[in-house]
Amino acid sequence: MIKIKIEKKYHKTINDLIIYLKNSKFLTDNRVESALRNIPRHEFVPESELDCAYNNEPLPIMKKQTISQPGVVTRMTEWLDVKDGQKILEIGTGSGWQSAILSYLVGKGNVYSVERHPELVKFAQENLKKLDIDNVHVVLSDGTLGYPKESPYDRIIITAACTKIPTPLLDQLSENGLIIAPVGTSSQSLVLLKKTQKGMIEIKNQSKYVFVPLVGKFSKK
Ligand code: SAH
Repeated sequence: MIKIKIEKKYHKTINDLIIYLKNSKFLTDNRVESALRNIPRHEFVPESELDCAYNNEPLPIMKKQTISQPGVVTRMTEWLDVKDGQKILEIGTGSGWQSAILSYLVGKGNVYSVERHPELVKFAQENLKKLDIDNVHVVLSDGTLGYPKESPYDRIIITAACTKIPTPLLDQLSENGLIIAPVGTSSQSLVLLKKTQKGMIEIKNQSKYVFVPLVGKFSKK
Protein backbone atom coordinates (compact mmCIF):
# COMPACT_ATOMS: atom_id res chain seq x y z
CA MET A 1 0.00 0.00 0.00
CA ILE A 2 1.36 3.44 -0.90
CA LYS A 3 2.46 5.69 1.94
CA ILE A 4 2.44 9.37 1.08
CA LYS A 5 4.14 11.99 3.19
CA ILE A 6 1.75 14.85 3.91
CA GLU A 7 3.04 18.31 4.87
CA LYS A 8 2.49 19.08 8.53
CA LYS A 9 0.45 22.22 7.89
CA TYR A 10 -2.37 20.05 6.48
CA HIS A 11 -2.54 17.55 9.35
CA LYS A 12 -5.07 19.49 11.43
CA THR A 13 -7.39 20.45 8.56
CA ILE A 14 -7.45 16.86 7.31
CA ASN A 15 -8.21 15.65 10.80
CA ASP A 16 -10.98 18.24 11.26
CA LEU A 17 -12.59 17.13 7.99
CA ILE A 18 -12.44 13.49 9.07
CA ILE A 19 -14.07 14.29 12.42
CA TYR A 20 -16.82 16.21 10.60
CA LEU A 21 -17.42 13.35 8.14
CA LYS A 22 -17.59 10.83 10.97
CA ASN A 23 -20.01 12.94 13.03
CA SER A 24 -22.25 13.41 10.01
CA LYS A 25 -22.06 9.64 9.21
CA PHE A 26 -20.52 10.13 5.76
CA LEU A 27 -17.52 8.19 7.02
CA THR A 28 -17.91 4.96 8.97
CA ASP A 29 -15.33 2.57 7.49
CA ASN A 30 -11.75 2.49 8.82
CA ARG A 31 -10.24 1.53 5.47
CA VAL A 32 -11.92 4.48 3.76
CA GLU A 33 -10.73 6.73 6.58
CA SER A 34 -7.19 5.50 6.00
CA ALA A 35 -7.56 6.23 2.26
CA LEU A 36 -8.76 9.75 3.06
CA ARG A 37 -5.80 10.35 5.36
CA ASN A 38 -3.31 9.07 2.80
CA ILE A 39 -4.64 10.63 -0.41
CA PRO A 40 -4.37 14.39 0.21
CA ARG A 41 -7.16 16.31 -1.54
CA HIS A 42 -5.03 19.45 -1.80
CA GLU A 43 -2.90 17.68 -4.43
CA PHE A 44 -5.99 17.42 -6.66
CA VAL A 45 -7.32 21.00 -6.59
CA PRO A 46 -6.11 24.00 -8.63
CA GLU A 47 -3.79 26.36 -6.78
CA SER A 48 -6.55 28.99 -6.51
CA GLU A 49 -8.63 26.56 -4.40
CA LEU A 50 -5.89 25.37 -2.03
CA ASP A 51 -7.32 27.17 1.00
CA CYS A 52 -10.63 25.35 0.56
CA ALA A 53 -9.20 21.89 -0.16
CA TYR A 54 -10.48 20.42 3.13
CA ASN A 55 -13.90 22.07 3.17
CA ASN A 56 -16.74 19.62 2.65
CA GLU A 57 -17.76 21.15 -0.68
CA PRO A 58 -17.22 20.52 -4.38
CA LEU A 59 -14.60 22.85 -5.91
CA PRO A 60 -14.12 24.07 -9.48
CA ILE A 61 -11.32 22.37 -11.42
CA MET A 62 -11.55 23.34 -15.11
CA LYS A 63 -13.87 22.99 -18.12
CA LYS A 64 -16.79 23.90 -15.76
CA GLN A 65 -16.28 20.62 -13.86
CA THR A 66 -15.76 20.02 -10.15
CA ILE A 67 -13.82 17.82 -7.76
CA SER A 68 -16.56 16.07 -5.79
CA GLN A 69 -17.46 16.91 -2.21
CA PRO A 70 -15.50 14.78 0.33
CA GLY A 71 -18.69 13.51 1.99
CA VAL A 72 -20.02 12.27 -1.34
CA VAL A 73 -16.70 10.63 -2.24
CA THR A 74 -16.52 8.78 1.09
CA ARG A 75 -20.15 7.66 0.89
CA MET A 76 -19.79 6.35 -2.68
CA THR A 77 -16.51 4.65 -1.80
CA GLU A 78 -18.03 2.97 1.26
CA TRP A 79 -21.08 1.74 -0.65
CA LEU A 80 -18.87 0.34 -3.39
CA ASP A 81 -17.21 -1.99 -0.84
CA VAL A 82 -13.88 -2.14 -2.65
CA LYS A 83 -11.61 -5.12 -1.97
CA ASP A 84 -7.90 -5.60 -2.33
CA GLY A 85 -6.84 -6.76 -5.82
CA GLN A 86 -10.02 -5.72 -7.63
CA LYS A 87 -10.35 -4.15 -11.06
CA ILE A 88 -12.40 -0.97 -11.05
CA LEU A 89 -13.86 1.22 -13.78
CA GLU A 90 -14.56 4.89 -13.02
CA ILE A 91 -16.46 7.16 -15.40
CA GLY A 92 -15.57 10.85 -14.93
CA THR A 93 -11.94 11.19 -13.78
CA GLY A 94 -12.09 14.95 -13.18
CA SER A 95 -9.21 15.74 -10.80
CA GLY A 96 -8.30 12.08 -10.22
CA TRP A 97 -8.96 12.29 -6.46
CA GLN A 98 -11.70 9.64 -6.39
CA SER A 99 -9.54 7.44 -8.65
CA ALA A 100 -6.61 7.79 -6.23
CA ILE A 101 -8.78 6.83 -3.25
CA LEU A 102 -9.94 3.73 -5.11
CA SER A 103 -6.37 2.91 -6.13
CA TYR A 104 -5.34 3.00 -2.46
CA LEU A 105 -8.10 0.53 -1.57
CA VAL A 106 -7.43 -1.96 -4.40
CA GLY A 107 -3.72 -2.19 -3.50
CA LYS A 108 -2.24 -4.36 -6.25
CA GLY A 109 -5.48 -4.13 -8.24
CA ASN A 110 -6.13 -1.55 -10.95
CA VAL A 111 -8.38 1.41 -11.60
CA TYR A 112 -9.36 2.38 -15.16
CA SER A 113 -10.81 5.87 -15.28
CA VAL A 114 -12.45 7.43 -18.33
CA GLU A 115 -12.67 11.21 -18.89
CA ARG A 116 -14.03 13.09 -21.91
CA HIS A 117 -12.02 16.35 -21.56
CA PRO A 118 -8.37 16.07 -22.66
CA GLU A 119 -7.42 18.95 -20.30
CA LEU A 120 -8.77 16.99 -17.35
CA VAL A 121 -7.08 13.76 -18.44
CA LYS A 122 -3.80 15.69 -18.31
CA PHE A 123 -4.66 17.39 -14.98
CA ALA A 124 -5.55 14.06 -13.34
CA GLN A 125 -2.49 12.29 -14.73
CA GLU A 126 -0.24 15.04 -13.36
CA ASN A 127 -1.92 14.90 -9.95
CA LEU A 128 -1.58 11.12 -9.76
CA LYS A 129 2.05 11.27 -10.84
CA LYS A 130 2.92 13.71 -8.02
CA LEU A 131 1.92 10.96 -5.59
CA ASP A 132 3.64 8.15 -7.54
CA ILE A 133 0.33 6.36 -8.08
CA ASP A 134 0.84 3.88 -10.92
CA ASN A 135 -2.26 1.68 -10.78
CA VAL A 136 -4.70 4.28 -12.13
CA HIS A 137 -5.00 4.28 -15.92
CA VAL A 138 -6.69 7.42 -17.23
CA VAL A 139 -8.36 7.03 -20.62
CA LEU A 140 -9.64 9.83 -22.90
CA SER A 141 -13.00 8.65 -24.22
CA ASP A 142 -16.78 8.80 -23.91
CA GLY A 143 -17.27 6.89 -20.67
CA THR A 144 -20.89 6.01 -21.49
CA LEU A 145 -19.32 3.39 -23.77
CA GLY A 146 -17.32 2.03 -20.82
CA TYR A 147 -13.86 0.64 -21.49
CA PRO A 148 -14.50 -2.79 -23.02
CA LYS A 149 -10.80 -3.57 -23.45
CA GLU A 150 -10.30 -4.32 -19.75
CA SER A 151 -13.79 -5.63 -18.91
CA PRO A 152 -15.29 -7.25 -16.91
CA TYR A 153 -14.91 -5.04 -13.82
CA ASP A 154 -15.53 -5.99 -10.20
CA ARG A 155 -16.78 -2.49 -9.46
CA ILE A 156 -17.98 0.45 -11.58
CA ILE A 157 -18.47 4.01 -10.35
CA ILE A 158 -20.05 6.85 -12.32
CA THR A 159 -19.18 10.28 -10.88
CA ALA A 160 -21.50 12.37 -13.10
CA ALA A 161 -25.31 12.53 -13.22
CA CYS A 162 -27.11 10.27 -15.72
CA THR A 163 -30.81 9.86 -16.43
CA LYS A 164 -30.22 6.15 -16.81
CA ILE A 165 -27.17 3.93 -16.27
CA PRO A 166 -25.57 3.40 -19.70
CA THR A 167 -26.18 -0.18 -20.89
CA PRO A 168 -22.55 -0.77 -21.98
CA LEU A 169 -21.51 -0.26 -18.35
CA LEU A 170 -23.96 -2.89 -17.09
CA ASP A 171 -22.60 -5.26 -19.74
CA GLN A 172 -19.03 -4.67 -18.59
CA LEU A 173 -19.73 -5.44 -14.92
CA SER A 174 -18.75 -8.91 -13.71
CA GLU A 175 -21.27 -11.24 -12.11
CA ASN A 176 -21.75 -10.32 -8.41
CA GLY A 177 -20.14 -6.96 -9.25
CA LEU A 178 -21.41 -3.66 -7.88
CA ILE A 179 -22.12 -0.43 -9.76
CA ILE A 180 -22.85 2.96 -8.21
CA ALA A 181 -24.24 6.01 -10.01
CA PRO A 182 -26.11 9.27 -9.40
CA VAL A 183 -29.33 8.87 -11.39
CA GLY A 184 -31.71 11.74 -12.12
CA THR A 185 -32.01 15.14 -13.77
CA SER A 186 -31.92 18.32 -11.62
CA SER A 187 -31.31 16.31 -8.44
CA GLN A 188 -30.08 12.72 -8.34
CA SER A 189 -30.43 9.59 -6.28
CA LEU A 190 -27.33 7.66 -5.47
CA VAL A 191 -28.08 4.13 -6.61
CA LEU A 192 -26.08 0.99 -5.84
CA LEU A 193 -26.87 -2.07 -7.97
CA LYS A 194 -25.58 -5.64 -7.95
CA LYS A 195 -25.37 -7.86 -11.01
CA THR A 196 -26.78 -11.30 -10.28
CA GLN A 197 -27.69 -14.34 -12.38
CA LYS A 198 -31.27 -13.09 -12.31
CA GLY A 199 -30.35 -9.57 -13.43
CA MET A 200 -29.58 -6.27 -11.71
CA ILE A 201 -30.85 -5.80 -8.15
CA GLU A 202 -30.94 -2.56 -6.19
CA ILE A 203 -28.95 -2.67 -2.95
CA LYS A 204 -29.14 0.98 -1.88
CA ASN A 205 -30.84 4.18 -3.00
CA GLN A 206 -30.59 7.61 -1.43
CA SER A 207 -31.98 10.87 -2.83
CA LYS A 208 -30.90 14.54 -2.89
CA TYR A 209 -27.47 14.56 -4.49
CA VAL A 210 -26.26 17.00 -7.13
CA PHE A 211 -23.57 16.10 -9.68
CA VAL A 212 -22.36 17.64 -12.93
CA PRO A 213 -24.01 15.91 -15.91
CA LEU A 214 -22.72 12.84 -17.72
CA VAL A 215 -22.52 13.85 -21.39
CA GLY A 216 -22.25 11.05 -23.92
CA LYS A 217 -23.82 8.64 -26.35
CA PHE A 218 -25.59 6.47 -23.73
CA SER A 219 -26.23 9.05 -20.99
CA LYS A 220 -29.93 9.64 -21.63
CA LYS A 221 -33.10 7.59 -21.97
N1 SAH B 1 -14.39 11.94 -9.71
C1 SAH B 1 -14.07 13.30 -9.97
C2 SAH B 1 -15.34 14.12 -10.12
C3 SAH B 1 -15.44 14.63 -11.48
S1 SAH B 1 -16.90 15.48 -11.94
C4 SAH B 1 -13.14 13.88 -8.95
O1 SAH B 1 -12.92 13.25 -7.91
O2 SAH B 1 -12.57 14.95 -9.18
C5 SAH B 1 -17.45 14.47 -13.27
C6 SAH B 1 -16.53 14.30 -14.44
O3 SAH B 1 -17.19 13.51 -15.41
C7 SAH B 1 -16.13 15.59 -15.16
O4 SAH B 1 -14.73 15.70 -15.19
C8 SAH B 1 -16.70 15.42 -16.58
O5 SAH B 1 -15.90 15.98 -17.59
C9 SAH B 1 -16.75 13.91 -16.69
N2 SAH B 1 -17.67 13.38 -17.70
C10 SAH B 1 -18.94 13.77 -18.02
N3 SAH B 1 -19.44 13.00 -18.99
C11 SAH B 1 -18.48 12.08 -19.30
C12 SAH B 1 -18.40 11.00 -20.23
N4 SAH B 1 -19.40 10.68 -21.05
N5 SAH B 1 -17.26 10.29 -20.27
C13 SAH B 1 -16.21 10.58 -19.46
N6 SAH B 1 -16.23 11.58 -18.57
C14 SAH B 1 -17.36 12.32 -18.48
